[in-house]
Amino acid sequence: MKLVLLGAPGAGKGTQAVFLKERHGLAHISTGDILRHNLNQGTPLGLEAKKYMDKGELVPDEVVMQMIGERLDSLKPDEGFMLDGFPRTVKQAEFLESKTKIDGVIMFTVSDDDIVKRLLNRAVCRSCGAITNWDNDKCPSCGGELYRRADDNEETIRSRLKVFHEQTEALIEFYKARKLLLEVDATGMPEEIFERVIGLLSHDKN
Ligand code: ADP
Ligand code: ZN
Repeated sequence: MKLVLLGAPGAGKGTQAVFLKERHGLAHISTGDILRHNLNQGTPLGLEAKKYMDKGELVPDEVVMQMIGERLDSLKPDEGFMLDGFPRTVKQAEFLESKTKIDGVIMFTVSDDDIVKRLLNRAVCRSCGAITNWDNDKCPSCGGELYRRADDNEETIRSRLKVFHEQTEALIEFYKARKLLLEVDATGMPEEIFERVIGLLSHDKN
């Protein structure tokens, strides 16, 4: 199965990807994670990307397309995957279409107000990378130390939402036209949302 996870920042793509990975054994390809990894390692790609990420803007299409192209080429033939954070522009979607055939696009919908609340409350575990929130003082999975992502501040969150509405939302029509769009209400607890995702995917197969 080859899936695209679509939705505003903070819609819960990364959290659902972890569930989907467990259940379906799909590779989780997150552009944000790959970019942050490059940033931490201080690679040229990371240094270039940082300028945009700090402001909540998109990293240029060419940079991200090259990065994802290499990752897709490294998969085993027929290996299933989920793309999380890619595509984010129509240009990126066209590139993806030229590389491979996607089975479905799950669109997670949440209101902007909820997104801001969620991102301001988002905490990430330094040890295991789990996504949690500041209602906890340490990681619920491993007890590790929590940190706030550099782009999870109100100003950057507003820019990321603006970019989502201006550029990424166009992909809804793009994938609707190709009959690939599966919409899921992404409000509520992660487990409830996952039940909805499972329902959608099983329904989609028949
Ligand atoms: P979120 O979805 O919560 O905003 P991500 O971790 O997916 O977080 O992305 C963080 C940042 O990385 C984005 O704000 C953007 O600067 C950059 N980025 C991630 N994916 C892409 C992409 N497909 N195209 C351009 N920039 C990207
Ligand atoms: Zn942890």
